[in-house]
Amino acid sequence: MIDTHAHLNDSQFDSDRDQVIRKAFQSGVQKIIEIADGPMEWGNALALCRKYPNQIFCAWGFHPHHALEWQDNYLSDLGKNLDSPLIAAIGEIGIDYAKSQAPVHIQHRTFRKMVELSNGAGKPLVLHCRNGKENGDAFKDMFHILQKYWKPKLGSRKFHGVLHCFSGGMTEAREALSLRLALGVDGPVTYPKNEELRSTLVSVGLDRIVLETDSPFLPPQGKRGQRNDPSQVTEIAQRLSSLFNVSKEEVVSVTTRNALELFNLC
Ligand SMILES: [Zn+2]
Ligand SMILES: [Zn+2]
Repeated sequence: MIDTHAHLNDSQFDSDRDQVIRKAFQSGVQKIIEIADGPMEWGNALALCRKYPNQIFCAWGFHPHHALEWQDNYLSDLGKNLDSPLIAAIGEIGIDYAKSQAPVHIQHRTFRKMVELSNGAGKPLVLHCRNGKENGDAFKDMFHILQKYWKPKLGSRKFHGVLHCFSGGMTEAREALSLRLALGVDGPVTYPKNEELRSTLVSVGLDRIVLETDSPFLPPQGKRGQRNDPSQVTEIAQRLSSLFNVSKEEVVSVTTRNALELFNLC
C-alpha cells in the first residue's frame, strides 16, 4: 500500500513521529508521500525523505489556506529544487472555499502561478479542491484554471496528477479523468453519509483511484475524533474492497500500481 497523502511534519506528530512511521511500514505501507503545504515545511519534508530513503517521498506546494502569505520569490526557491528525485510532485495546491481566509482572486492567482511553474517541471500535481457555502463552485474554477494554464510535460503517462481527498460527484470525476487526474480516496469514503461519493467511485473504477490518509486529519469512521496516521490506509483499502466487491489484495495491487505510476516511482 502507498499512502499518497500525509502530513507527517504536522506538530501533532512531534512526540512520536518515528514510531508512527515505523508502525505504518509494519502494517504494510510501502511508501508514503509527505505533503509540504508551504515554504515553512519544504525543508522538513525533504529531511524526512532523506531519513527514510525510498520509503518516503515528498510533494512541495502552496496550500490555498496560505494564499495570503504568498511571495513571488517562492517560485524561484521552488524551481531551484524541483530536479530533486525526492520531490515526487508539486502540491498540494488548489482552491478552498470552505476554510481558506484568502479572497477568491488571491487563491486563483497563487494557484495559477504554481500551475504555470509546474509546466516546465515534468512532475505531477497534487490538487486540493473544496467547496464551501459561498464563493461559487471551487471545482469549476479549478478545472477552468487547469484547462487554461496547465501544460504538463508528462507525455503519455497514465496520470498527470491527483485530485486528493476527492469530494465531488460524477460531473467532477469525469472532468478530472479527462485531465488525467487520479482520484485520492481517504477517510470520508468510510463515513455513513457519503453514499454519493461511494457510488461515484464505483462508476469511476479502481483503476483511477489511489489510497491516502491525509494524516493527521480525516480518520476513518471507527477513529473519528482521533489523530489519523498512515497505518489507517489499510482501513481505506478494506472499505474499497467491500465497495468494489473484490479482495483487499486486489484493491492494494491496483491502487499501489496507480500510485507508483502517478509519482513515477516504478
Ligand atoms: Zn488537502
Ligand atoms: Zn493535505
